Amino acid sequence: MRQTAQTIPQAVLKAACDEARKLGLRTLVHANYDAVHGAITAGCTQVEHGLGATEADLRAMAEKGIYFDPQAGQLIQNYLDNRARYAGTPFFPKTPQEFEPMKELLPITHGVVQRAHKISSLKIVFGTDALAGMHGHNVEDLFNRVVECGIAPMDALVSANSLAAEAMKMDDQIGALAPGLEADIIALDGDPLKDITVVRRVAFVMKGGSVYKNEMHLVPRSRSLPKLLDDRRSCYLQVDRGGMANRPSVARLPSPYTRGANSVRWRGDCQAGEYKLHPLEHHLTISGRMLNELRRLRGMLLDESFAA
Ligand SMILES: [Zn+2]
Repeated sequence: MRQTAQTIPQAVLKAACDEARKLGLRTLVHANYDAVHGAITAGCTQVEHGLGATEADLRAMAEKGIYFDPQAGQLIQNYLDNRARYAGTPFFPKTPQEFEPMKELLPITHGVVQRAHKISSLKIVFGTDALAGMHGHNVEDLFNRVVECGIAPMDALVSANSLAAEAMKMDDQIGALAPGLEADIIALDGDPLKDITVVRRVAFVMKGGSVYKNEMHLVPRSRSLPKLLDDRRSCYLQVDRGGMANRPSVARLPSPYTRGANSVRWRGDCQAGEYKLHPLEHHLTISGRMLNELRRLRGMLLDESFAA
């Protein structure tokens, strides 16, 4: 993934884009640095990544109506988080330690998103490269767009909904709430325009008119606990399905200020509950119908004994 040179000859790339266009198909070219210019001049419909895209590249994409799908850091973070698995595979460093310089790409990715957003007519969609290890964490890049890159929450949300649907030529089916479209709806536990972290707290999912998840009744009314835990910037609280008839073994819950472990599952009477420590955030997942437990837990977390 560190390759910067164009790997497909320009004539081949152009032929592929031409043939696809004749067939009414889209062409998405994963391109960085010089290859961005190659993809644009070949007439592709969408550029993925775009690391090292120049101002001229970004403007050319806007002028030609080419969709742009830059990542805002999670792609790199995913490699870093999963370095032990990626190490030694083709195109990747041989050892986990050798992944360290990849961190330098994080501000570069943020910079691409920021520069792209300065060009108002550029159609910037949301995509994650569908990396191994990424699934289930895709929304982190939406978060990154807002928090790391300073993009307006509404722009980030539109990039992943109506604009993404338009880019896929599926805007007559998905991407908006309108008569005749698929009834694909999610509900978040809060207002993402005010607090983008709520995109991680999906409380309701309807796909094609069928409800796949409905935890609206489990969403705690109080925002106190997440705020309490938010000693950094992005603690969130998620309430999952599952039983929690018994009292949780709160004593085993590590302090929100504890560092070092990646994930601590707390045991005892309650089956579920996972407290993950991530470099940038705290994830506290509590399962079950337990508003009273949450209040009790909050009391205990306030206790000095839970501070490191
Ligand atoms: Zn790619």
